[in-house]
Amino acid sequence: MAVETVASLRRFRLQERQRREAPMPPRSELFALVDRHWDGLLTFTRRLVQTPSLPGQEHDVAALVQDEMQRLGYDEVRVDHAGNVVGTLRGGDGPALLLDTHMDHVAVGDPARWPHPPFGAEIHDDAIWGRATVDIKGPLAAQVYAGAALKAAGYSFPGPVHVAAVVQEEIGGYGTRSLLDWLRPDIALIGEPSANRLARGHRGRVELHATVKGRSVHASVPQLGVNPHYSVARFLTALHQTPLPEQGEFGASSVAPTLYSTDNPSANVIPSEIHLVLDYRNVPADRPEAARARMADLLAASLEAEATADIVIPQRTYTTWTGVEWQLPAIFPAFETPADSPLVDAAQAALSEALGEDTPVILWRFATDGGHTAAAGVPTLGFGPGDDRLAHTIMEHLPLAALRAGCAGTIALVESLGHLRRHA
Ligand SMILES: [Zn+2]
Repeated sequence: MAVETVASLRRFRLQERQRREAPMPPRSELFALVDRHWDGLLTFTRRLVQTPSLPGQEHDVAALVQDEMQRLGYDEVRVDHAGNVVGTLRGGDGPALLLDTHMDHVAVGDPARWPHPPFGAEIHDDAIWGRATVDIKGPLAAQVYAGAALKAAGYSFPGPVHVAAVVQEEIGGYGTRSLLDWLRPDIALIGEPSANRLARGHRGRVELHATVKGRSVHASVPQLGVNPHYSVARFLTALHQTPLPEQGEFGASSVAPTLYSTDNPSANVIPSEIHLVLDYRNVPADRPEAARARMADLLAASLEAEATADIVIPQRTYTTWTGVEWQLPAIFPAFETPADSPLVDAAQAALSEALGEDTPVILWRFATDGGHTAAAGVPTLGFGPGDDRLAHTIMEHLPLAALRAGCAGTIALVESLGHLRRHA
């Protein structure tokens, strides 16, 4: 049963304050807990990096995660129809926590351009190097080990802790979306690189596909045709100068034209159609359909006589490694947990205590599966080791100290969020 509203969570505040007066395991003890499992955590992280797992091809990593959860003593380990691996640590009747991290990563491009082999997981200057060290295998390993370390230390959980390693986050989040069909947690903690700061939201992403139509003619007689390039040029110039909705700390929505193509491959023909892709990042209050309509209006106002245009949010079809075919619109939802929510209070206090310094609360610059958990009504936060600016680059690497602190911080969050009462 989900915690209904932030308002109801507010009522837990008092209990949470009273609880905090009872001593948390001191910071030194949390790090000692991680250190007891350090060799396993480091080996597991490196093996994850050494096992490529592009979206739809997560089978080997899924097997690795499954084996590790079983070895670490998770009470139950399941692989669902989508290929998500879910390990459960049983608890009392307190809130059910979901720790959610994806298994897939983006492509490496030309391996020769990398300073170290992308799947080598080599250690240089006290950091693990390679694709997905930051996005996402460091955060994944930290989540898998956090609950296990608490269990091994004899800790009993107030409510069940589900650790989900999900598929296909990078291409739309079917893994988390389908997980929520059969698992309804009370609180979700998304593992993504936050440099061990607390994340409480992010903008969404909407893909917009524009088609601008003119009339094709031989390029030697342009006056007889309608060249759609000119309408697109006017649109792009207007787009560059158009302010988009703003919302508090999120700043403004933004839009970037990314792909551009014509329907005719010949250099001496005026094309009849141009296809343009816009990557639109929406603040939470700027809904995807409103964003589409705004872009459609701007495009309509930019057309030369006789040109026509259309903008749609495309549907995408993908297949999971288990063979499930799914189709979803190219919308990656925004989410926001309010800065004054008791969830944020409790999580920030626990992290600050565990990591020994005031933990900043941030908004992620990129979209995550947190948009899907929040859209399903589950209060959502994010936390994980790694510098997100290195994600998707050839410089991707994760300092060992960040991995260690990321695991300690995740333990603190499991301990703290698990004690939030479900009902006042
Ligand atoms: Zn990620």
